[in-house]
Amino acid sequence: MQKDLRYCLELYKSSDLLLEVSKEADPETQIAAVMKGAEKMGKAVHFLRAANSDFTVVNNIFGSRRMLALLFETDPEKVVNEWIERIKDPIQSETVSGGPVKEVIKKDSEVNLKELPQVVHSSKDAGAFITAGLVIAKDPETGIRNVSINRMQFKGRNKLGIRMMPPQHLGIIHEKSERLGRNLEVAVAIGNHPFETLCAATTLAYGQDEFSLSGGLRRKPLQTVKCESVDLEVPATAEIVLEGEVIAGVRESEGPFGDFMQYYVPVMENHVLEVHAVTHRKNAIYQVIQAGSLEDVHLLGLSRESKVYEAVSKVADIAAVSLVPTILGCMISIRKRFEGEPKNVAAAAFGAYSWLKYCVVVDHDVDVFDSNDVWWAMCTRSRPDRGVFELSEALGFPRDPFHIHQSKLGIDATAPLNQWDEFERKVVPGANSVKPGDFF
Ligand code: MN
Repeated sequence: MQKDLRYCLELYKSSDLLLEVSKEADPETQIAAVMKGAEKMGKAVHFLRAANSDFTVVNNIFGSRRMLALLFETDPEKVVNEWIERIKDPIQSETVSGGPVKEVIKKDSEVNLKELPQVVHSSKDAGAFITAGLVIAKDPETGIRNVSINRMQFKGRNKLGIRMMPPQHLGIIHEKSERLGRNLEVAVAIGNHPFETLCAATTLAYGQDEFSLSGGLRRKPLQTVKCESVDLEVPATAEIVLEGEVIAGVRESEGPFGDFMQYYVPVMENHVLEVHAVTHRKNAIYQVIQAGSLEDVHLLGLSRESKVYEAVSKVADIAAVSLVPTILGCMISIRKRFEGEPKNVAAAAFGAYSWLKYCVVVDHDVDVFDSNDVWWAMCTRSRPDRGVFELSEALGFPRDPFHIHQSKLGIDATAPLNQWDEFERKVVPGANSVKPGDFF
């Protein structure tokens, strides 16, 4: 069978990166706080007993670069390179006759979304939301598939509120079908191998199929099965699939919801999804992603890091890039060849990825995956009077009512060239040979 979420959990377990919680936890009042704890420990978490639900709950499977490195079978600093290599050759998915996602099938009056763990993410949210659902839909004119991640608010036994808007592809697709006076068929796959989720979180050109990209990451076709009630295909090993229609011409209040910048987005008039069928595996695992968590940033960051990496590698000798812990800020390490080059590097990064607001460029001896180390470099190597540059009124993060994301700051935190005698970092004796754990 193809690699799936369960494979991923086994992989993490064997690397001591999975916490299994056997104590019952309440999705509405406890699970989010425990997930925060797992996030701090850099571990994925699997709740084996969620109150008021037969489904188990998993979170934080993108919690660290080490996890991504395990999935891509490479070193943590090489994950970006591996991503760039693998997405060069997308592979179309293949439809197979059946799969574990069909082990349980419920239709029409048997559907009850309240059976899913009602995880509340932030205390002022409108209620429970689905946050790790891959929404699959087809362009009504071309039939080309799109896969995206959209938040959904539980609104009843068979009803969800769903947020979508152009230029997001699902929003474009829905607008087209609404113009044709049609409801839009969608399937929502919850609990997937991380590659499918990563691809759904990647911004592709309109008409490029996210599942083909995932085939590229897998280096073999993603296996899909046909849905029961809609003309769509879903991953054969997904844990849970919801099938239904986004209703044409209907908008209802949705939100508030604590979003990725850690603020609440207000109540908005958003779309309504009616669910006609649910299929799932036996002992199905319900996946949750907390907006703005380290998991969310790794998930959103990888494809964007690859864009920055490719742009910067054309102008400089880049060592590594990181968009963690916030995708509005970037840290890049280079092997500097010329004075001034770090500013060109930051300019290239701003050009490649418009949401970037800060870009810090450091030497290759600084760990960009450790923001404390980057801060050290800023404080000991940068010159605030000459080492920074500002871009005002540039294109930035688009949803910006206060106009605070439309300017940028580049920071050169590299040491002067040819002065490594003065800027060589001290190293303790035994740094590479002594294991502190042997002494504790
Ligand atoms: Mn798309």
